[in-house]
Amino acid sequence: MSEPTTEPTSQSTPADEPSTDDLTRVVARFDDRDLLRAAGYVVGAEDAAVDDEAVIYSRGGYRAGIVTKVGRVNVTVTYTTETAIREAADPRYGWTEPARTTKAAKFAEVAVRPTGEAAAPTLARPSRRVTGARQVDHNNECVGCGAHFSEPCGPACPFETGTYRPAVLLPAAARRLREHPAGVGYDIGGALFAAALDLVGADEAAGAADEARQILTGSLVDQWGPRAEEIRAEVVYRHGLFSDLADLARSLYTAAARHDGIDFDPEAFGEFPASSATS
Ligand SMILES: [Zn+2]
Repeated sequence: MSEPTTEPTSQSTPADEPSTDDLTRVVARFDDRDLLRAAGYVVGAEDAAVDDEAVIYSRGGYRAGIVTKVGRVNVTVTYTTETAIREAADPRYGWTEPARTTKAAKFAEVAVRPTGEAAAPTLARPSRRVTGARQVDHNNECVGCGAHFSEPCGPACPFETGTYRPAVLLPAAARRLREHPAGVGYDIGGALFAAALDLVGADEAAGAADEARQILTGSLVDQWGPRAEEIRAEVVYRHGLFSDLADLARSLYTAAARHDGIDFDPEAFGEFPASSATS
């Protein structure tokens, strides 16, 4: 991509400092560009202005923050992280403001949220379509709405509306858990991908599986505490190594409930048979 030769679209304002509230509001980390696009960001910051939301690649991930400077070829983004926010809230650390990082990159390497968009969902908006047939879980209940298989789905169920919701993939994966091909533990990533293939089709499967994995990671880190944050990229894999099928299934349901803002109900979950894996 050639460098722009026109006048800068915006003046730099180095004194401009985003508030902690603003940084906290937009905080997010994406593993790849597909995920940040799914979250509504558009790659290319030629038209960015100070105070816009933007995503910049830094320290191994795509970080969402606020534009603090727009130059002729570069844009500068200030961001914070979930870890920094957690540390700032932890009395064992000696500070109360989350640490922030400022980084500049070329326009083409920064993504922005188009103006007029609503603020910061950290995960994909429901643009995927459910293309597969209704799936029932170990209780013979629809993974999308909880209706018993003998009853029709509720009107808001993804299998009814066709609009995909990320959390539906997690319970759908529970019965697809298989022993890891390497022979140790269970392959959670494989189960998520297999469920995604059935729900949203091959084109969307990888993105949907990644997204569900992020939801599960967030839920596990939440339960396991700050030490899990340090091994964030590994928690799903480790969980598969060291937990039994029923625990894994419970974790998938717990993560889905957490994502949807409801409490996991152990009674509704019932018993997950140790050998329920079906094809
Ligand atoms: Zn349903």
